[in-house]
Amino acid sequence: MTDYERELSALRARMSALNERIMGNLNEFITLSNRIGEVKDKMGLPHFDPVRESNMLKEVLDANPGPMPGDQMKTVFKAIFRASVEEMGMEKRARLEVNRLPGSRDKVIEVGGVAIGGGRPAIMGGPCSVESHEQMLETARGLKALGVPILRGGAFKPRTSPYSFQGLEEEGLKILRAVGDEVGMPVITEVISAHDVPLVAGYADILQVGTRNMFNYALLKELGRIRKPVMLKRGFMATMEEFVLAAEYIYVRGNHQVILCERGIRTFETWTRNTLDISSVPILKQETFLPVIVDVSHALGRKDVIKPIAHAALAAGADGLMFESHCNPASALSDNQQQLTLEEAAGLMDYLKKHLETM
Ligand code: PEP
Ligand code: MN
Repeated sequence: MTDYERELSALRARMSALNERIMGNLNEFITLSNRIGEVKDKMGLPHFDPVRESNMLKEVLDANPGPMPGDQMKTVFKAIFRASVEEMGMEKRARLEVNRLPGSRDKVIEVGGVAIGGGRPAIMGGPCSVESHEQMLETARGLKALGVPILRGGAFKPRTSPYSFQGLEEEGLKILRAVGDEVGMPVITEVISAHDVPLVAGYADILQVGTRNMFNYALLKELGRIRKPVMLKRGFMATMEEFVLAAEYIYVRGNHQVILCERGIRTFETWTRNTLDISSVPILKQETFLPVIVDVSHALGRKDVIKPIAHAALAAGADGLMFESHCNPASALSDNQQQLTLEEAAGLMDYLKKHLETM
């Protein structure tokens, strides 16, 4: 045996012993982190805490005397942290402020004496677009008499075609506000750009984000700065996760009055305008503590099956419904196929009252 061979074999023996010590340390690490997981479960806290993880990494890197380079040390520790989180058998998704935790209370949003969430279904009805004072007043009076508490009406219309009616804009907001006040109904209307948020917030009780704008993060950030309820509609091509993250954009900026609205997603189906993803209702309620509304009109684009679908939405746990209704749908400037006449709206409300104890 040469000197080199002797040295190599001694170094290898030390390396094997070191491997064992590292293994012992890693097992101690996992035991400790499992215990932390148990304590966190008792406290209703999520296992994965990105802030704590990044602080621990920083501590390790600051204390590293070398010679292992910092980036390598970081890779190794990240792998260890990941393993511990996986070992706890836990969620890999980061915790969001809108996530439901054990013991979270359902969010209840009050607008003009109407509660959205936490009990009785909140019904929002009204025309697709605000067209005139007379049209709004006749529709609002009709709906109010049926027990529809919240009035909708679009003043800024995000139309697929630039040649379609784009809405009365501020004039429409004024009409909506005046009619809401006259009839005694809080009003909801859509805002389509970040720039218009202060204007729309000046008239509306609830600001709506339409399906085409769910990914408009500049708009969501602006809505996070106001202190008025926002109803965020699911993007027609958005996953539930993307939808919840969009809600987080608003919530995390301090506007905690966020309502989710499922309004159908785009699929290969052509017999309905969209495909109502009814499964999203209980899943969103499980993942978040926010109220969930189902817009049955834009989901279906047709009126003939609206009753059982509205029933299904509430049976699945929705906190309310939105539907379009117009005093004279034949003359409507937008979505005339799907807007209920006041008689049809009465039929829908009767049907729901008959089928649901909570109505
Ligand atoms: C609306 O509610 O007026 C509307 C345009 O709906 P959506 O954004 O769901 O298409
Ligand atoms: Mn419409």
